[in-house]
Amino acid sequence: MTKTVHHWIGGRTVEGTSGNWGPVTDPATGAVTTRVALASAAEVDAAVAAAREAYTSWGTSSLAQRTAVLFRYRALLDARRDDLAALITAEHGKVHSDALGEVARGLEIVELACGITTELKGELSTQVSNRVDVAAIRQPLGVVAGITPFNFPAMVPMWMFPLAIACGNTFVLKPSEKDPSAANLLAELAAEAGLPAGVLNVLHGDRVAVDALLEHPDVAAVSFVGSTPIARHIHATASANGKRVQALGGAKNHMLVLPDADLDAAADAAVSAAYGSAGERCMAISAVVAVGAIGDDLVQRIRERAEKITIGPGTDPASEMGPLITRAHRDKVASYVTGAAAQGSEVVLDGTGHTVEGYEDGHWIGLSLLDHVPTDADAYRDEIFGPVLCVLRAETYEEGLAIVNASPFGNGTAVFTRDGGAARRFQMEVQAGMVGVNVPIPVPVGYHSFGGWKDSLFGDHHIYGRDGVHFYTRGKVVTTRWPDPADAPAGVDLGFPRNH
Ligand code: NAD
Repeated sequence: MTKTVHHWIGGRTVEGTSGNWGPVTDPATGAVTTRVALASAAEVDAAVAAAREAYTSWGTSSLAQRTAVLFRYRALLDARRDDLAALITAEHGKVHSDALGEVARGLEIVELACGITTELKGELSTQVSNRVDVAAIRQPLGVVAGITPFNFPAMVPMWMFPLAIACGNTFVLKPSEKDPSAANLLAELAAEAGLPAGVLNVLHGDRVAVDALLEHPDVAAVSFVGSTPIARHIHATASANGKRVQALGGAKNHMLVLPDADLDAAADAAVSAAYGSAGERCMAISAVVAVGAIGDDLVQRIRERAEKITIGPGTDPASEMGPLITRAHRDKVASYVTGAAAQGSEVVLDGTGHTVEGYEDGHWIGLSLLDHVPTDADAYRDEIFGPVLCVLRAETYEEGLAIVNASPFGNGTAVFTRDGGAARRFQMEVQAGMVGVNVPIPVPVGYHSFGGWKDSLFGDHHIYGRDGVHFYTRGKVVTTRWPDPADAPAGVDLGFPRNH
């Protein structure tokens, strides 16, 4: 072990004092490389106090001040893309090019935050009644907490804090304890950009820290991204404690392939979206529903492509897919493949025996492909979060749509077809928050919002985009009357005020 990751509170590194540490592993070697501080409730208090103190001035800072910092931050992040990506690869395992993609998508939200002046313009109605004007403004909430998952250690925090601080809030980020280092670099660069101390704090920890944040009276709102059971817990607990909360959960994303689709394009998309980042994406395609007679042909094309993917450490430019986050997760993913045949699936590709020479202790699993998967099989029902693609068969569009809509999850989905009418029908009828038409991973651009339906999101707001601005601000409506000196005195009137 060579490295220790501490908290970042009040604009500086603060050593962990709880005496609890979590191990951080290089997934390619299986070696523990780092220990991360796990905060106690007292350390949560310190981070929230720093954020609260900073809010007294940041909450009333000018938009010009905030955007000046954000523009400098954007430039620093741009210059340090490679360093951020290297930290992600070292602790998450994803290949460097994929890590760079994550940083780029996070930057989109910083860019959106640079334009916060437009988003916070407010509304004004003049002369709604005689000499009466009405202004609608949005103001920050105070201290906001963000709790983020392991699979996007830079991008998901960047879905949250740039917009939150641009809106005038201060922020306590609790990143995943499995890959904590990227968050510290994000905070250090923000300080270098001129963000005042305490506006962005990084508090490392596990459920102890999370539960203390959820109950803390000085935390006004919570943004969460992670698995469905934890999202449900976060939403219930934060709501019970009177906080505004958005909790994005897990997924099982379906790709419906209609008989008229370009099968080569569909197979390319299925392989890219199912196996990219070793399937550890909330927008990964994990189920393909083949409609009509194309099933065998499509499975064959997916198989041919999947067999050519190079698996190896994320630091090797030749690698297209890296290892899984932990040994325990790797073994759990493998169990879905080894148990698949007994539950009625046809195992087309079994990656469970895959090893990488020179990296024998890494958390490897090869690409796995299951066909004719029954809807009651564990591999179909559970979010596996690994490189395992299930193919299901349907006779008709209606049957395929019914499969997609019966899923308890509703994050992303895609339809592959050349028929515009069918695509439009799917877009209108499918129960999911994000839909791709011949686009397998329809992650919305920064100026639209990201979010699922059903068990993929608890709360009313999607994340980033206009929904993000709305989530991190609250509305105030000001009604003003400036009487003209020539007006007769209004006099006392006990009637309910009417506009005329
Ligand atoms: P996770 O739910 O295990 O952890 C997420 C966060 O919650 C971490 O910071 C973790 O420390 C904390 N946490 C874990 N257990 C907790 C508990 N019992 N009490 C309080 N806090 C707890 O998720 P993960 O394994 O890190 O990430 C993968 C999951 O995240 C997948 O389910 C994936 O689909 C989901 N995800 C969803 C989205 C989305 O936008 N919907 C995006 C990325 C990831």
